[in-house]
Amino acid sequence: MTEKYLVTGASGYIASWIVNFLLRQGQTVHGTVRSLSDTKKISHLLDLKKKYPDHLTLFEADLLRKESFRKAMEGCTTILHTASPFFITRIKDPQKELIGPALEGTRNVLTLAGEFPQIKRIVVTSSVAAIYSDAVDIYRAKKNMFDETMWNTTSNAQYNPYQYSKTLAEKEAWKIAESQQQWELVTIAPGFVMGPSLSKRVDSTSINTMQSLINGKYRTGAPDLWFGVVDVRDVAKAHILAATQQEAAGRYICVGHGVSILGMARILRDHFPKRPIPRSTIPKILLYLVGPLMGFSWKFLNLNYGIEYNFDNTRSIKLGVKYHALKDTLIDHAEQLIRDGLV
Ligand code: NAP
Repeated sequence: MTEKYLVTGASGYIASWIVNFLLRQGQTVHGTVRSLSDTKKISHLLDLKKKYPDHLTLFEADLLRKESFRKAMEGCTTILHTASPFFITRIKDPQKELIGPALEGTRNVLTLAGEFPQIKRIVVTSSVAAIYSDAVDIYRAKKNMFDETMWNTTSNAQYNPYQYSKTLAEKEAWKIAESQQQWELVTIAPGFVMGPSLSKRVDSTSINTMQSLINGKYRTGAPDLWFGVVDVRDVAKAHILAATQQEAAGRYICVGHGVSILGMARILRDHFPKRPIPRSTIPKILLYLVGPLMGFSWKFLNLNYGIEYNFDNTRSIKLGVKYHALKDTLIDHAEQLIRDGLV
């Protein structure tokens, strides 16, 4: 049976893949974007609309205006709420740029859903940022792995404000979900998302990171930082499983592989030997000098540098997520950027 799905932030890196997979399955999608006239941001969605003219409708909506989601919500049975600002550097006003839109947006979309009784499930894109703030938090994890029982308790508006925005937004989502009985909430907590983009946009933090890895930004050495990486296609599929599997419930960490920046660089260097990809890490002492220029504060370096960690992804695998090999994610991503002339 085909269903109607509302995908908020449809033009984003992750959401574009969700829309693409839903359309391929024959489903109908209402996608919200900030501006229908910004063809640069939405041209890949307009291409999908040409391919699936009866199955994709785009609407304008802004996270800070609850009413702007009303039209898009009409007739939908499921919401995938992905829209939320995602950037971690060059933040001037954390409240206005990150916390307000993340929190208000979640509140607006989830409370408006209560006015549409046919809506039975809402999937919210959270993040592992709602689970931990810094690598050092691994020392309070059971089995040396982050899992879904944990919450980020140390970010705030001044320190790691993106992480704070995601923590507040997911907590708010659970609070609203528990105050009603009409719809069920499932949250997806991706790690750092990489893999090919369906658009040529470069304003996503995920895309910037891959650009930096292969365009020489770290040629003198990579910071010794660890990540939980996941393929964007796996994240999109996890959202769809969360939306469609009856038994889906609660939080799902969505991370395929724990890896350092240098570990990613090694894989990329083997495949692109002529590119200025880092061969070593920058010593911590040197990073104290250049870190602030690269967007890393001393506090961040102290709590993260050189600390290895991992994630328990058992629940997502039980739900049906099959993770791409890390090599495929990284190479597919780099090849897409090269093909699209973005590095
Ligand atoms: P992205 O490409 O930057 O997508 C962010 C989306 O949010 C865009 O569609 C953007 O709209 C929308 N948005 C931002 N502010 C908005 C506002 N005020 N009103 C309406 N829409 C607004 O990044 P992404 O990686 O796909 O992120 C999608 C979600 O995944 C976010 O919730 C993010 O926190 C979460 N996440 C991402 C990662 C990752 O590594 N990429 C990891 C964990 C969780 P425009 O298209 O108009 O800019």
